[in-house]
Amino acid sequence: MSTMDPTRPEGVMRVAYGGQGVVQREDGERLPCRFRRSVGRPCCGDRVRLERAGADDWVVAEILPRRNEFVRGDGRQRRQVIACNLDQVLVVIAPEPRPSRDLVERYLVAVHSLGMQPVLVINKAELLDASAGLTDTAQSPPFSRVAEYRRLGYTVVHTSTRAAPGTDALAPLLHGSTSILVGQSGVGKSSLVNRLIPDLDLQTGELSRATGKGTHTTTTTILYELPDGGALIDSPGVWEYGLWAMSARELAAGFPEFWPYVGQCRFNDCRHHGEPGCAVDAAMGEGAIPEWRLSAYRRLLEQA
Ligand code: GDP
Ligand code: ZN
Repeated sequence: MSTMDPTRPEGVMRVAYGGQGVVQREDGERLPCRFRRSVGRPCCGDRVRLERAGADDWVVAEILPRRNEFVRGDGRQRRQVIACNLDQVLVVIAPEPRPSRDLVERYLVAVHSLGMQPVLVINKAELLDASAGLTDTAQSPPFSRVAEYRRLGYTVVHTSTRAAPGTDALAPLLHGSTSILVGQSGVGKSSLVNRLIPDLDLQTGELSRATGKGTHTTTTTILYELPDGGALIDSPGVWEYGLWAMSARELAAGFPEFWPYVGQCRFNDCRHHGEPGCAVDAAMGEGAIPEWRLSAYRRLLEQA
């Protein structure tokens, strides 16, 4: 098997920046390596094959096919691959900062458009308790719609890095998979990473030593190993992913409950925005699609 070929070891890219990175072999050994322009640009999460370039020197000889790509791009800036081969995207929201209207739908559409599975994480959940004095927020969308999101098929978990319920509900979801956290600044992504990766500093230190350069958590995307298996990718900065180049078809693909109906509209290019014979609209009329979801879709369509 090629993975056993000691001269061409295979592994996962844990950090990649400035033409070099660190690859971790299955046996845990971390190999520093350089990139070759002809091979392409590896990113965090890539499975790669290495070749010796010197006594203690490795180069990436091959990037194995990617399952998916987590990209950043807001329409103006260049499309940039942040990480790849992800199993799920943890969309983190919190009562503070309070999410704007349609923020959750925006995130869900963006994650679906990348072909990935979103998980909704409601952090700072202790602030939703009656005693926290945020009753109005707790009783408004999206926090009031947890049961509805679950009915739509989404996994929703409540977490707190400060109090009950803690982060225990996340552990089984992360186990054995590769995840990344997204969300507005201040919702608690760094706090969650610190809770979920107890040896975070140790791992960062090991990767820094392997590259021989500093690995700066504030500027570098890093793949961390979870204590029970699986990986969590921490990428600094806010994830910008513009929806405005999106067609009605792409947008509707981010609303799974529309899927059974989109092909049944009278017009092939139906935008589900008041056209006659719209099956999505009819499904809403019959209660098969929540009215608030179709409204959110239409607002996003108007802004797209
Ligand atoms: P990030 O910008 O998403 O990485 O958010 P941070 O992890 O930096 O957290 C932003 C602020 O929220 C910090 O002051 C944290 O201490 C606080 N915070 C994080 N998690 C919780 C939580 O579960 N409950 C409360 N009340 N505050 C939290
Ligand atoms: Zn339609």
